[in-house]
Amino acid sequence: TETAKSKIGLIGLAVMGQNLALNVAEKGFPISVYNRTYEKTEAAVSRAAKEGLDKELTGYKELKDFVASLEKPRRVIILVKAGAPVDSTIDGLVQFMEPGDIIIDGGNEWYENTERRAAMVAEKGLLYMGMGVSGGEEGARNGPSMMPGGTQEAYTHIKDIVEKVAAQVNDGPCVTFIGPGGAGNFVKMVHNGIEYGDMQLISEAYDVLKTLGGLTNEELNAAFNAWNKGELDSFLIEISALILAKKDEDGKTFMVDKILDKTGMKGTGKWTVQQAAELSVAAPTIEAALDGRFLSGLKEERVAASEVFAGLGAQAPAAVAGEDKEELVKAVAQALYASKICSYAQGMNIIRAKSVEKKWGIEMGSLARIWKGGCIIRAQFLDEIREAYMKNPDLKNLLVDPNFAKKLVERQAAWRKVVALAISNGVAVPGMTASLGYFDTYRRAVVPANLVQAQRDFFGSHTYERTDRPSGEWFHTVWDPRN
Ligand code: NAP
Repeated sequence: TETAKSKIGLIGLAVMGQNLALNVAEKGFPISVYNRTYEKTEAAVSRAAKEGLDKELTGYKELKDFVASLEKPRRVIILVKAGAPVDSTIDGLVQFMEPGDIIIDGGNEWYENTERRAAMVAEKGLLYMGMGVSGGEEGARNGPSMMPGGTQEAYTHIKDIVEKVAAQVNDGPCVTFIGPGGAGNFVKMVHNGIEYGDMQLISEAYDVLKTLGGLTNEELNAAFNAWNKGELDSFLIEISALILAKKDEDGKTFMVDKILDKTGMKGTGKWTVQQAAELSVAAPTIEAALDGRFLSGLKEERVAASEVFAGLGAQAPAAVAGEDKEELVKAVAQALYASKICSYAQGMNIIRAKSVEKKWGIEMGSLARIWKGGCIIRAQFLDEIREAYMKNPDLKNLLVDPNFAKKLVERQAAWRKVVALAISNGVAVPGMTASLGYFDTYRRAVVPANLVQAQRDFFGSHTYERTDRPSGEWFHTVWDPRN
């Protein structure tokens, strides 16, 4: 007997795929699932049974049967490791798919790979989308933020499903059509770059309070919990508070103090920085976050260097006498918030520059909206970013939105105080420092680039424009009196 066809299929049942499949099933869409290694399919099926979703979720051992089980046009979400595994999954799928069918890659894929694959499968009449999914395991299961890009036509076939599966916030589901080609993957990539920035800035706030303020883990937990009730309210502050409270099995010592200070990474932060450079967009805070991860990886070198410098009398930073803990917590919160505005300004400008270059037509305000729920950077603050772009869709930089400009000015003194305190006591705050440098450069009508231009002209005859002549007139000077 012919069984009812599934509405959608999903390939790749690791952390993300398994959870997203259950989410889809729970929203009432019958789903077929497949994984290269069959054990993971069995695991997904038995988890579905445990969660009472076995009617909605069906596992397949053969790709051919999986494809045959889908309603037409067939919709298949791929959630396998980015890169070559996606290519081999597509190679398998296209053998059984037919014109009009749709492939949606939900992984953290490099956007050009999506554009290449879209062109390749288009030859067989298939539609293709690259859809960034954020929110980790929990988000995938209960409602992620999703960033689908590709053809509008393909999106109309998945819109109903993804709008139900996405996180829901006060102004709608956390998903919207981002733009053509690899726009969805690109936006997800920069989302991750912004996430790197946020995590770096939060870790610097923690370091200043712990190392210079002498706060205990209990005090840090209380500070983060308080922050999470105000303007810093966000998923990353919330989980940081929970992390700071977590005890080891002995019930006494803290887990956070036992974690090796060496960060992992998978590439999206690096790609964001590379793209910023390609587009000539300054992104110093996100770059500082990436550099922070590189330097954290040099654990053995850092330990050796600390000994070299201690031997020369340069001691490790320690609590500063006379710092009022409560005052410091307040100042650090302001420094963190101001630094965060700068970091988001950089990320948004990378997206805007790319959207202009590729004619993607990305709506900046809608990105802030779909990041409000489900994803790792979800925060109260995104509402204000959304408002800024709604008031002025052509806003050149978030820093000069009237609301954010005022906030930066109000937090300036505390921001400078925290950065100065850290710098004068040997605690590196590269993210906060980079943000402050970004602000101080962007807000100055005159920067010392006159001297750089003169140097370029001196050694390379690169010519320069003059402040006392119309722009577009180029001059060269013989600078060296010896010539
Ligand atoms: P993952 O560890 O990135 O990938 C594991 C999956 O890829 C398994 O299903 C595996 O199948 C499959 N796979 C690996 N090599 C393959 C190949 N050559 N051919 C076919 N399948 C292959 O899984 P994940 O963490 O769930 O992430 C999936 C995607 O979502 C990635 O692009 C990831 O970057 C992105 N993402 C992850 C998170 C997260 O929190 N984990 C968050 C957002 C986005 P087998 O079981 O057969 O090995």
